[in-house]
Amino acid sequence: MPEHAVVIGAGLGGLAAASLLAGKGYKVTVYEKNSTPGGKMQQVTASGYRFDTGPSLFTMPFILEKLFVECGKNMGDYLEIKEPEPLCRYFYPDNVIFDNHADRKRSMNEIKKFAPEDAEAYSSFLDRSEDLYNRTADAFLFNPLYGLRDIRHLKLLDFLDIDAFSTVSDKVDHHFKSDYLRQFFKRFTTYNGSSPFRAPATLNVIPHVELNQGGYYVLGGLYKIAEAMQTLATEMGVEFHFDEEVQSIDHSGKKAVGVTLISGKTDPCDLLIANSDATDTIINLLPEKALGRRKRERQKAIEPSCSGFVMMLGCNRRWEKLKHHNIFFSGDYRQEFEDIFSHKRMPVDPTIYIANTSFTDQGHAPKNSSNLFILVNAPYVADGQNWDKIRSEYSRFLINELEKRGLDGLTDSVEYSELIAPDDFLKRYGSNRGSIYGTSSNGKFAAFLRPRNKLRNIENLYLVGGSTHPGGGIPLVIQSAFNAIELLRRENDV
Ligand SMILES: Cc1cc2nc3c(=O)[nH]c(=O)nc-3n(C[C@H](O)[C@H](O)[C@H](O)COP(=O)(O)OP(=O)(O)OC[C@H]3O[C@@H](n4cnc5c(N)ncnc54)[C@H](O)[C@@H]3O)c2cc1C
Repeated sequence: MPEHAVVIGAGLGGLAAASLLAGKGYKVTVYEKNSTPGGKMQQVTASGYRFDTGPSLFTMPFILEKLFVECGKNMGDYLEIKEPEPLCRYFYPDNVIFDNHADRKRSMNEIKKFAPEDAEAYSSFLDRSEDLYNRTADAFLFNPLYGLRDIRHLKLLDFLDIDAFSTVSDKVDHHFKSDYLRQFFKRFTTYNGSSPFRAPATLNVIPHVELNQGGYYVLGGLYKIAEAMQTLATEMGVEFHFDEEVQSIDHSGKKAVGVTLISGKTDPCDLLIANSDATDTIINLLPEKALGRRKRERQKAIEPSCSGFVMMLGCNRRWEKLKHHNIFFSGDYRQEFEDIFSHKRMPVDPTIYIANTSFTDQGHAPKNSSNLFILVNAPYVADGQNWDKIRSEYSRFLINELEKRGLDGLTDSVEYSELIAPDDFLKRYGSNRGSIYGTSSNGKFAAFLRPRNKLRNIENLYLVGGSTHPGGGIPLVIQSAFNAIELLRRENDV
């Protein structure tokens, strides 16, 4: 009889782990509380418009490719990826526009038009970003960082030069003269839901990932990734149960032995993978006696990443100035992050991101129309917030704000709209306080606080997903499944 593995959650981490386990001969069952796979990667189609409701940028595709290869398949048979051109258009408050291209020389020529003093610095910063990647990727991404053996083979000298003791903002300010390039490079810290004014400068590795390695789109929309991963898992023999929420992890001695569903059904298993948020798994799904009080308290104290305030607008017109990815910068970046992380309120002067996928995929909106996915970084859910009130006030404010920043006639053009606020991320996916990238990196040691891919003290229980090592975002979440399988291999020689 093959051993039975249960996976809690069909987010990208759960889907990846399910396929890898099926490939190792496990009989795998996935329980997902919602009715579709993908977790925070979802899509909405309505009134002729189509939107991705979660990720819009796909980086490090080689990690997803590795999953398909491991399962004996070819990613290209499932997904067609493409780099938008330009990579992203940036709008500054004084009307300067920066088209950032994959081609470094082209970007430098753009920079020469508004910040000539920083054109060469753009290139040298990207070289430094690559250097940081080379020093840190094996240690912090492609390594479970679980025990001494994981640290032993690392080149420790590399760690003396990874900028862990200054902030992203300090290093960027030191490197660039103009506020344009300073704000541009600080922005990448938000890719893992953190503040550039608090996160260690090691995170200056992120620009390398998008600007040197490539920032991709999947034709048809990023939800195609979730669909492809579910197809892959099904082909590998994984069984899915949607609309089935796990209520608790069954536990005997020091072992996870199965799950009990809200419906009352139980499913005993030999191996359990939790793709549910790590905080939720530790605090709510595991029985109190399974982990010590200190471990539970420590988990509660870890700061979540920021959340997001999303508006999807179907508009019966197009704007020539909008490309595929667009960023409208705020006037005071420091204040924006103070609002989000210190005051835990929506930013008074937000940076606004717009994904306009109908620029690339014309079928995503009716003719001469636009599907605008609008995202503003938002605080995680905290006491004293009234999200129903914020929803209606802030959405009106955002539409006004975008009109002021150049999207003339936006209000009158809207024929479809839908909102997702931080409390929705909490309710829909059980993500800790509505965070969208797991835990924040707002501290020197944040990478070491994130739960590892196996819980110590509990046998047979592995954790995957953005709230676990190595962190949030599509590629890292898929990597977390590889890390979990590596830890499983070490213990069981599978
Ligand atoms: C608005 C937004 C924009 C983003 N933009 C990007 C981007 O551009 N690029 C990028 O790389 N990343 C982006 N991300 C982050 C990325 O979406 C996430 O890091 C990733 O999808 C998380 O995957 P996960 O495996 O952690 O699972 P999750 O998506 O958290 O899924 C977990 C699943 O488990 C299910 N579940 C939880 N508890 C239970 C239970 N008790 N029983 C059964 N099922 C349960 C949930 O319903 C969910 O389906 C974005 C996220 C959001 C929300």
